[in-house]
Amino acid sequence: MREGRISVVVPAFNEADNLPLLKDRLTRALSQYGDVEILIVDDGSQDRTPAILRGFAAGDPRFRFLSLSRNFGHQSALKAGLDRASGDCVITLDADLQHPPEHIAEMVDCWRDGFEVVNMVREDDPKTPAFKRWTSRLFYRFVNSISDFEIRPGASDFRLLDRRVVEALISLEERTLFLRGTLPWLGFRQCYIAYTPDERAQGVAKYNFQRMMALALDGITSSSTRPLRFSTYLGVIMAGLGLTYAGYALLLKLFAGSVISGWASLLVGIMTFGGVQLLMLGILGEYLGKVLTEVKGRPSYIVREQSEAGARSQAELPVAAMQARLSNSGM
Ligand code: UDP
Ligand code: MG
Repeated sequence: MREGRISVVVPAFNEADNLPLLKDRLTRALSQYGDVEILIVDDGSQDRTPAILRGFAAGDPRFRFLSLSRNFGHQSALKAGLDRASGDCVITLDADLQHPPEHIAEMVDCWRDGFEVVNMVREDDPKTPAFKRWTSRLFYRFVNSISDFEIRPGASDFRLLDRRVVEALISLEERTLFLRGTLPWLGFRQCYIAYTPDERAQGVAKYNFQRMMALALDGITSSSTRPLRFSTYLGVIMAGLGLTYAGYALLLKLFAGSVISGWASLLVGIMTFGGVQLLMLGILGEYLGKVLTEVKGRPSYIVREQSEAGARSQAELPVAAMQARLSNSGM
């Protein structure tokens, strides 16, 4: 059975109204564990979030925080938290209490039974807006049809990761992480627990349509290159059709005299080809943009402030732990 420190990482963007309740429910859910760390990542909030987090850290040694220099987005905030969490397992959940902290006990039990990734799978909740349920289902079906690894429908960023998985994850050098797609690729022993998401406690969701589209595109382009191949196939098919039609027109001209007919079909042809070409350019552009982002090699987030000066970096962690053990044993 596994023992050790439990870290909870919470990305928060303008969540001042949710934080006090989050603190209460987290503290209650974690009260049965001895060694606990709660790391809240302020993703460039404009409200009182940073001030509240400073207060939490001052009043309770289990609370730590990290303030990013601007809004870098949910996935980057999660990555920032994972990079700095020191636990033997790390639980990630949302600050808006849609991921009920009361499930933590089940998750930790699963980890203690030997699983390295505990995925919380969202049950289809009739309270979720139909549009969101529908687009989410459509997205997973599409992504799964073109990628080599399956993302379970209803997968969310509510999960527990063993230290080994966290280390594997932070050793990846990708800038645009899409955790739901990357984790199945990493492997490890996975288990799944169903949960019903609560309604957001306060405020409104930050994922608007544009952000959802961006997340979907990131998800697709970071888990598969098949759309590129698709554009090649489609190009071949369209060119084939074009050539066939050209042959047909030539035959008509040679054997049936000139026939000028079908402006409509001409126009349809031009528009279809134009559309397909733009779509293919778009796909290429998406991947090229991704290559540019990776090549620039900029970090996926920048830290402005954190609760303790010079927090332990992951590279130093094992050394620090070893030193502590040596000094404990009197060596
Ligand atoms: N979040 C973040 N940065 C962002 C947007 C959201 O850290 O740019 C956090 C937010 O505070 C919340 C979680 O990510 O804790 C999920 O966001 P939200 O509730 O807006 O998304 P939804 O529940 O609609 O997926
Ligand atoms: Mg939410």
